[in-house]
Amino acid sequence: MNLETSRYNALSAEERSVIESKGTERPFSGEYDDFYEEGVYLCRRCNAELYRSDAKFDAHCGWPAFEQEIPGTVTRLPDPDGVRTEIECANCGGHLGHVFIGERLTAADTRHCVNSISMKFARPTAGGQYYCDKGWEHFNVGQYEKAIGFYSIAIEHIKKGPWEGQCYHRRAWSYAKLKQHQQAIQDYDHAIGLDPEYDLAYSHRGQSHAALGEHQQAIQDYDQAISLDPDYELAYSHRGQSYAALGEHQRAIQDYDQAVLLDADNELPYVNRALAYYDLGQHQRAIQDFDQTIRINPYLSEAYNNRGIAYSDLGQHQRAIQDYDHAIKLNPNYSCAYYNRGMAYIDLRQLERAIQDCDQAIKLRRRPGRQVETGLCRSLLQGQLSKADVDED
Ligand SMILES: [Zn+2]
Repeated sequence: MNLETSRYNALSAEERSVIESKGTERPFSGEYDDFYEEGVYLCRRCNAELYRSDAKFDAHCGWPAFEQEIPGTVTRLPDPDGVRTEIECANCGGHLGHVFIGERLTAADTRHCVNSISMKFARPTAGGQYYCDKGWEHFNVGQYEKAIGFYSIAIEHIKKGPWEGQCYHRRAWSYAKLKQHQQAIQDYDHAIGLDPEYDLAYSHRGQSHAALGEHQQAIQDYDQAISLDPDYELAYSHRGQSYAALGEHQRAIQDYDQAVLLDADNELPYVNRALAYYDLGQHQRAIQDFDQTIRINPYLSEAYNNRGIAYSDLGQHQRAIQDYDHAIKLNPNYSCAYYNRGMAYIDLRQLERAIQDCDQAIKLRRRPGRQVETGLCRSLLQGQLSKADVDED
């Protein structure tokens, strides 16, 4: 490392004896030995980030212990004693301590035994990156409220910087997951204000507008996302859904065509295109797209159910029943599929089986707290479903 020494922090004699002369502080004496606040540990000499507090654990050994470093920040090298492995700051070569493996103290089975004096503790760094990353970790396991908390801290700590827009965008996305779309849109606005070419933020803002029924605004956002990235397949799919919601099925199909062109192995545009063809009364085309959907993902019970509806419309009740059977096999609580199969049995004059299915559908839909998935049944069935709703009351 040939960094200018003048760029390093000035060190006391005691700090130099450890960091530069590879000494060891007395056990149970360091300021971070019994210290568990949330933040990051930096190299005392060069300020490089080395460890995060969530990797710290109590090894009862007298020195701070971490089960892992921030990737790429710590160098391992054989200790002159021929036994241990020394660790040093990868940026400036300052001595940190030793790393031990195989002690079975944590799942990572690794203990970085670090001198407190080699480090400085800091609450989130200037970029807010630490808390932004924490938010992302929570987001990825579905803990959206916690994620929002961390993003909020990150945003508070941020001065201007590349992380700011990303934090707003990610907090927005967490709000959207909680269906708090107004708040989400405010954050997307911020993210886009900071980076007017943030294609992902446009597309996500579009989804929040769509969720609020604001399809014209959604379409504007998708337009923007697509103009920034003409290969943005999902933006086409979503724009198509907004056009479909406005009843512009032909326009929607154009978008789905484009999405299929960009990624022929994704079932989403096929499903959507099938529904659009269905709404246009083009049942055969709809069935083709459901076929394609099922080829890509044979576990989509909705696709079988919806294809069944299309076959029912064409008067092919036996074929429809096969699809409903399959949908129910995949999802035994699929009330809508029972109901549809019941309707098909009525058309085949098999009334006992029809009654069984309708009973089953009603039983499932009466289960407390269970949402009726009317959306899956699409417009055709809504009339029939509302009749069933009357039965429930
Ligand atoms: Zn360093």
